[in-house]
Amino acid sequence: MSPAATDGGAALRARHAAVIARIDAALAACGRAPGSVRLLAVSKTFGADAVLALAQCGQRAFGENYVQEALAKMAAVNDRWALRANERSEAPIEWHYIGPLQSNKTRPVAEHFQWVHSVDRERVARRLSEQRPAALPPLQVCVQVDVSGEASKGGCTPEEAPALAQAIAAMPRLRLRGVMAIPAPSDDVATQRAQFARVRAVWETIRASGVPMDTLSMGMSGDLEAAIAEGATVVRVGTAVFGVRGTD
Ligand SMILES: *Cc1c(COP(=O)(O)O)cnc(C)c1O
Repeated sequence: MSPAATDGGAALRARHAAVIARIDAALAACGRAPGSVRLLAVSKTFGADAVLALAQCGQRAFGENYVQEALAKMAAVNDRWALRANERSEAPIEWHYIGPLQSNKTRPVAEHFQWVHSVDRERVARRLSEQRPAALPPLQVCVQVDVSGEASKGGCTPEEAPALAQAIAAMPRLRLRGVMAIPAPSDDVATQRAQFARVRAVWETIRASGVPMDTLSMGMSGDLEAAIAEGATVVRVGTAVFGVRGTD
């Protein structure tokens, strides 16, 4: 057995429970309904055993950043989970691609993931729609917006976001779900909240233009409370769930 499947699994489960408690406390602190934020467990750099250990305690949504790493892990996890799901009729694991996406790398993402949070160009969106297999439901997509001027993290500008959202909403094999952002990290809660408020404003603008969306994907290990206070519906948490990553 690997460490994640034996005693390391207990530590993992404890961290996962602690993150869920943080989410619940953050929702209560701002008067939002319990259960109105979904935890996306960001498993990049961690293996199939860790993902399966969390799936066994109810976690279903996992986020990945690197296509090649993800494909191998997903194959291992999905096979093992399918056996268990058949026996116990458990819900399938849902894979979310959250990493940078070049337009020449879209095919495996279109074929293997259920969600993509990091669409920041129409060309990438169009290829995802064209490459989404007909046998699968539409790929669920968020528009990634850059509110910090950090080009290295990807994301369209707030000004570009409404037109991109309109274009995605019209693509047959995509289903627009919302907006995602990775604001510049800050230790200052007021700064965190100001950045998340800008993301939310973009989301509201798009919705006001008549494009329905239900997802605001923002907040990570260090700032999920501020994101929830500003209306996040999905938080993407890696370190606080899985532990400190090596290099990535
Ligand atoms: C790695 C990553 C996360 C998780 O970050 P932590 O600080 O480890 O919680 C969330 N979102 C994206 C896009 C990431 O790349």
